[in-house]
Amino acid sequence: MTKMDDIAEKYRQLETVILNNHPDSDMDRIRAAFEFALEAHDTQMRKDGTKFITHPLAAATIVAEIGLDEDSLCAALLHDCIEDTSATFDDINKLFGKDVAEIVDGVTKLSRVTYTSKEEEQMENLRKMLIAMAQDIRVILIKIADRLHNMRTMEYVSEDKQREKALETMEMYAPIAHRLGMQKIKWELEDLSIQYLDPVGCYEITEGLKLRRVEDESFFRLIQTKITERLAGNGIQCEVNGRIKHLYSIYRKMYGENKVLSEVLDLYAFRVIVNNIADCYNVLGYIHDMFKPMPGCFKDYIGTPKPNMYQSLHTNVIGSEGIPFEVQIRTWEMHQTAEYGIAAHWKYKEGKGGKVADEEKFAWIRRLLESQQDGDAQDFLHALKVDMFADEVFVFTPGGDVINLPAGSTPIDFAYNIHSEVGNRMTGALVNGRIVPYAHTLRSGDIVKILTSNSAKGPSRDWLEIIKSPEARNKIRQWFKKERREENIIHGKMAFESELRHSNIQLADITRDDVLPKVLARASFRSLDELYAAIGYGGITTQKIVNKIRDDVRASVKTRKKEELPTKPEKKEETRIKPVKGVMVEGLGNCLVKFARCCSPVPGDPVVGFITKGYGVSVHHQDCINYIKADKDSEAAERRWVHVAWANTEGRDYSTTIYMTIRERIGIVVDVATVLNTLNIRIVSFNSKNNWDGNVSVTVVVDVKSRDELVTAMAKLMSVPGVIDVRRAGG
Ligand code: MN
Repeated sequence: MTKMDDIAEKYRQLETVILNNHPDSDMDRIRAAFEFALEAHDTQMRKDGTKFITHPLAAATIVAEIGLDEDSLCAALLHDCIEDTSATFDDINKLFGKDVAEIVDGVTKLSRVTYTSKEEEQMENLRKMLIAMAQDIRVILIKIADRLHNMRTMEYVSEDKQREKALETMEMYAPIAHRLGMQKIKWELEDLSIQYLDPVGCYEITEGLKLRRVEDESFFRLIQTKITERLAGNGIQCEVNGRIKHLYSIYRKMYGENKVLSEVLDLYAFRVIVNNIADCYNVLGYIHDMFKPMPGCFKDYIGTPKPNMYQSLHTNVIGSEGIPFEVQIRTWEMHQTAEYGIAAHWKYKEGKGGKVADEEKFAWIRRLLESQQDGDAQDFLHALKVDMFADEVFVFTPGGDVINLPAGSTPIDFAYNIHSEVGNRMTGALVNGRIVPYAHTLRSGDIVKILTSNSAKGPSRDWLEIIKSPEARNKIRQWFKKERREENIIHGKMAFESELRHSNIQLADITRDDVLPKVLARASFRSLDELYAAIGYGGITTQKIVNKIRDDVRASVKTRKKEELPTKPEKKEETRIKPVKGVMVEGLGNCLVKFARCCSPVPGDPVVGFITKGYGVSVHHQDCINYIKADKDSEAAERRWVHVAWANTEGRDYSTTIYMTIRERIGIVVDVATVLNTLNIRIVSFNSKNNWDGNVSVTVVVDVKSRDELVTAMAKLMSVPGVIDVRRAGG
């Protein structure tokens, strides 16, 4: 039984903490919230036999310690009222205002999110979903305080429940606390959880630490005294604390790296807190003078703060006792930030899962934190009320997985996110158990179920108008493309043959029995039709395929030629005619030469000349449609089409046109230009046009020296994300 005196005493303690952090708080309002909760929970008891009010009271005290505002304190006191008592949103709204009511409502909603342990990627989505649902970061902070108190008082809860809550805390709440920079709370959550998750392993550690406690304590005293005396002797005011690293960090070292306690070297950490930044560096000098610094272990987070505002000097040293330890040096202000957040230590010693990947993964919280760098804690919390995830929505599958979609997404987006077959067979959707139209906008926390049928007639073109995710868009387009396979094969074959001609390869060189299997294997297709179809619907570009197979085919052609023609072919005698613009025209010297604009050939291309009326010789690509279509059989034509060849073209630039199809995205134009720039290719002109299908057609005129240079550039362009196709002008 809790006596009312105890409760009154606890409330006085809460008041003291509040007045320490926010002396100007409206204490009457906070007391009113307390009394409202006291009455609402009047008859409820906790598992440990205390009156229920002790729980919101304790949660509020944690919230006060973090330094949250008055609204948060009221909300913390009231946080279980809507869920567990007859009190309603309107009651709280009327008495304590909309902000408080909404925070309480938010905490209540979070409590209803069902949790099951999942793979890391899913967990990350679930964490984001919680934060997205919270809308106000204070909801999350109160939820964390709520969880912390529950974890502190789990003794009388059933063993199953203990483990379940501990796992949830370890996977959800500790990482969130971590990323919000609430170091102290994160540690406590982890230490409490691991004791329920692995009591035996923890027992080993705590017993081990107990055995060496006397030793450790004298070590702490020794170092502490050494540092304090030296600094005091030099007129530096400071506080020096020594501590053993927290339980879970030792646990991870021992069981993660398979060590025994005595092998865990960096067990000890000392913290020196001083009044100003200049003293931080002074202290560092003295520390390095007293103890031997370990090379490469010094970090200056004051000069270069972490993105989350964390600041401290870190150094690892060894004393004459031969025991290594870490020293963190910081000002009081830095200390507050490090303990209670604004800051997020999401980058700091978080598993061995690769720092870069983590950074990517947590870019969302980084964005969130970076936009807040200038404000103090209060501003930070207020600013976070608005659109934390304005551009994302998180919804559940019926199985409890979290799916992350762009804001405004519809059930169609959801269906295609699950699998293209689910989308293609979709006949309807249920959101939270109710049938909704296809265009329905999903909201965070919705449970979405897709109805499918094997006789569904497939996606409709209208869907492209209402969906929001590029993924769904691509899959729907893909469907339309695949439905027209015959057509695709024809288009694909034509495109492929044309590309082969560019590379001076005959289709017959490829279809030979001894070559075809090799070529298909290299290009990863099972049959030529499949390859054509893939080209036809844009699944792969002809250029990519030809690049892959070119060497194989040429090698086989070469060996065959050797076998068939053992004698060296006679070398053609070169006509001694002076080249014009790098081109030699058969039988003609010093004539006017221009390059056909329809195909703009460059050195290395197979070319042919056309004698124009009055403008000299126009040089075309042999693949140019104007040459192919031209009637070359008539006598007149025979006289006009002439052989031309490239001579030494060194140092000369040739203008040519590249056509590209790209998927629109921010920055793609810059990326394309950058590729050409790095290759030192001059852009003569750059035009783009939006297509009906949402892609963009780009026409670039560039100056190049040779076909090789052009081919390299096109291959590079092809690898720019978002580029669908790169082609040359072909007349
Ligand atoms: Mn609670």
